[in-house]
Amino acid sequence: MSTETVADQRVVEAAVDAARTAAGWWAGLGWDGRRRALLAWKRTLTTRVEELAGQIREETGKPHGDAVLEVMLAVEHLDWAARHARGVLRRRRVPSGLLAANQAASVGYEPLGVIGVIGPWNYPVYTPLGSISYALAAGNAVVFKPSEHTPGVGRWLADRWAEAVPGPAVLQAVTGGGEAGAALCRAGVDKIAFTGSTATGRKVMAACAETLTPVVVEAGGKDALIVAADADLDAAARAAAFGSFGNAGQTCAGVERVYVEQAAYEPFLERLAELARATTPGEAPDARYGRMTTPTQAAIVAEHIGDALAKGGRAVVGGPDAVRPPFVDPVVLAEVPEDSLAVTEETFGPTVVVNPVRDLDEAVARANASRYGLAASVFTGSRRTAVEVAERLRAGAVSVNAVLGFAAVPSLPFGGVGDSGFGRIHGADGLREFSRAKSVTRQRFAAPIDLLRLDRQPAALHRAARLFQLRHGRG
Ligand code: NDP
Repeated sequence: MSTETVADQRVVEAAVDAARTAAGWWAGLGWDGRRRALLAWKRTLTTRVEELAGQIREETGKPHGDAVLEVMLAVEHLDWAARHARGVLRRRRVPSGLLAANQAASVGYEPLGVIGVIGPWNYPVYTPLGSISYALAAGNAVVFKPSEHTPGVGRWLADRWAEAVPGPAVLQAVTGGGEAGAALCRAGVDKIAFTGSTATGRKVMAACAETLTPVVVEAGGKDALIVAADADLDAAARAAAFGSFGNAGQTCAGVERVYVEQAAYEPFLERLAELARATTPGEAPDARYGRMTTPTQAAIVAEHIGDALAKGGRAVVGGPDAVRPPFVDPVVLAEVPEDSLAVTEETFGPTVVVNPVRDLDEAVARANASRYGLAASVFTGSRRTAVEVAERLRAGAVSVNAVLGFAAVPSLPFGGVGDSGFGRIHGADGLREFSRAKSVTRQRFAAPIDLLRLDRQPAALHRAARLFQLRHGRG
């Protein structure tokens, strides 16, 4: 925990009040003014990337390169949101249909007002900015509650905003633990964008239910990677290693389970094991990955490894001894029963379960058996197989012959299924998530058959009913 101040209910409410005032000013800037402001903030994040990466590294323990990459990805999204908000959200004409041919119809998207963003610690810039950038670009003010493990990053982002965009407090950070997050849920915001564990997501929803405050929940995952027999096994193993061990496995859409078609199982496992053995975590800025960010996470990882082995799984690389807090060495577990914690629960550590499957049908069935559904990957040499498998996977995003392929594509929406949450950030859907659709019709001329009047004529209704039968009775 840092020396950051802890925001209580009163402080959070004051921030939301200030944001409410700022929201009016921000909305009044219009599309162009907001785009200019967002791009000014973007330039600050870009030119001061080293400083921000240093702050990320200090609070999370991740290697320098990972911290820089995280900022680069976040900035890519910020740029996209700033440049596309107008095109996605501005009022546009829509067809008014036969029945209302006399009406000109249009839909436009208005900001909601003040968005409360509650973020996790694992990607303290990329993840919350996935909500913050899109919420701001849609015309809202934001009050951001970073994780208590990364308050400095949250504060840094808000301070840089204040410098880049002088004026009312359009983006503020309030720091503190879960209580500050709970206070934000009850502070009268117009929507909460929560990213964190499924368990906390439930608490956030319950708190928001009291005031009918809408929520978007970006929660955990237990993502599967499927390896077909015709896949490039070296590429698949490298991607699995990166997806499982990168960022010490503390990636919501990291790889936690791998299902490999029988014919490729042994060679794949061997290659992955080789890569795992060559990987060591450490404190050095150029380490492959760093420490577990929170003190409690190592114990969860140890529990999952122990349970997998007790249930009959095999430790191919590492095992219980791999957990030497604050570090955890890479662990490859094989033939782990599907009811083990390492298969059913989010481990959030540098461990991976590799299980053989008869065929791709079984792989898809096992991948989909999880109550989570954030992302998934498939490796295959066949484009057709890739498309088929991708369509059958129950997940918010699927990467083919890669892991996390969507992360750097800002036009793609991101979000989960089931216990991984609901709602979408990123892309056009992400902009709409922080907007309210408003429909407008303008009567251009009186309807030839006017039914919307108190003195409606029976003959008019009769004519309309006949047309209705003709139009919908057969087609
Ligand atoms: P947590 O659920 O523990 O916390 C998330 C945020 O919620 C933190 O800011 C936390 O504050 C806050 N919080 C805690 N209790 C409450 C409460 N009662 N009401 C409101 N807010 C509260 O998640 P972690 O920070 O541990 O992050 C890891 C999780 O996030 C993993 O499950 C991971 O999969 C998921 N995640 C999902 C992503 C996605 O996009 N789907 C992306 C990244 C991570 P504090 O930390 O101060 O206690």
